[in-house]
Amino acid sequence: MKKIAILGSTGSIGVNTLNVIRTFPKVFDVEILCTNTNIDLLEKQIDEFEPNYAVVNDKELCKELQDRVSKKICILCGQDGMIEAIQNADYDVLVAAMVGFSGLIPTIESIKRSKRIGLANKETLVAAGELVIELARKYQSEIIPIDSEHSAIFQCLVGEKSENIEKIILTASGGPFLNTPIEKLANVSVEEALKHPKWDMGNKITIDSATMINKGLEVIEAHYLFNLPLSKIDIVIHPQSVIHSMVKFYDGSVKAQLSLPDMRIPIQYALTYPDRLPSDFVQTDFTQVGSLTFFKPDRNKFECLQFAYDALQEGGLKPCIMNAANEIAVNKFLKKEIKFNQITYLIKEALNKIENGSASDLEQILQCDCKTREFVNNIKI
Ligand code: MG
Repeated sequence: MKKIAILGSTGSIGVNTLNVIRTFPKVFDVEILCTNTNIDLLEKQIDEFEPNYAVVNDKELCKELQDRVSKKICILCGQDGMIEAIQNADYDVLVAAMVGFSGLIPTIESIKRSKRIGLANKETLVAAGELVIELARKYQSEIIPIDSEHSAIFQCLVGEKSENIEKIILTASGGPFLNTPIEKLANVSVEEALKHPKWDMGNKITIDSATMINKGLEVIEAHYLFNLPLSKIDIVIHPQSVIHSMVKFYDGSVKAQLSLPDMRIPIQYALTYPDRLPSDFVQTDFTQVGSLTFFKPDRNKFECLQFAYDALQEGGLKPCIMNAANEIAVNKFLKKEIKFNQITYLIKEALNKIENGSASDLEQILQCDCKTREFVNNIKI
């Protein structure tokens, strides 16, 4: 039995991870479940999967859950509780599926125990890529990407030498505003931005897809995961989302990984790699798929895409600043405090006004994240 810890078990990736685990009850066992605030769903998950540990980030809701659950299980509260569970529980794979920067410290703690990390939380690598990859190397912790594009590249690279890679090509659906004229972007609503044409995902990543900063974050994620310079990472718009990404080799050959969009495939792969288990989650019938099309992204319309390239080029704390500013801006947009195009404005302000520095230790990264959040929260709109 492979024992699985899921951080963010009530979110979209967490729920899909449990869907995979439910399909293979003789293969996987749940050890830790964890939520930010959704104790109702967590209670159901505890009932069904009987983990040894559950963690609730919100301390009051945590107490409420402790009162409700009578099973013999250790329920811990807050970030300290999460770290205690990660340090003490007996598990083989940590699925890092929390939203945003909050995933960083728990992921690092698991890396220090040399666990396999199924990484869905891309913000961890964006904010602290250098540090996380260095720790993973030091502690021999395998990082297997769950982000669909990176899982595709990872799969294409099995059996290949990295020196033979000419470039990797990340595919992007283009999000809900692919064909919306730039002058109309200011007034799109939260509801329109949350309507992703291809993927059913959490709110934060869906808004990130609408601004296309998601693809920018993925460029940075790919840079660290595959140890490739920016010049070897391309983006192509592919509205059907059937090709999840590609690798071009020096001999002119291109490998791609394809399927209809279903996150259970990359999740399962991260749990079973290097093996594969038979499943019927999604059947890709190419006679039904029809044509696959590709074109260049519009970096003038989707400025956030350019921010990511520039932030990585400048290095240091710039990606951390971009990530923190984006998290606050997306939150404000979801609460209808700002307009859609003001997300871009807030990120740009943070990138221009906050001083860069070294991102080689955790303390500097945490301070930068905190400072950026405060800065963006205080911008008057
Ligand atoms: Mg992705």
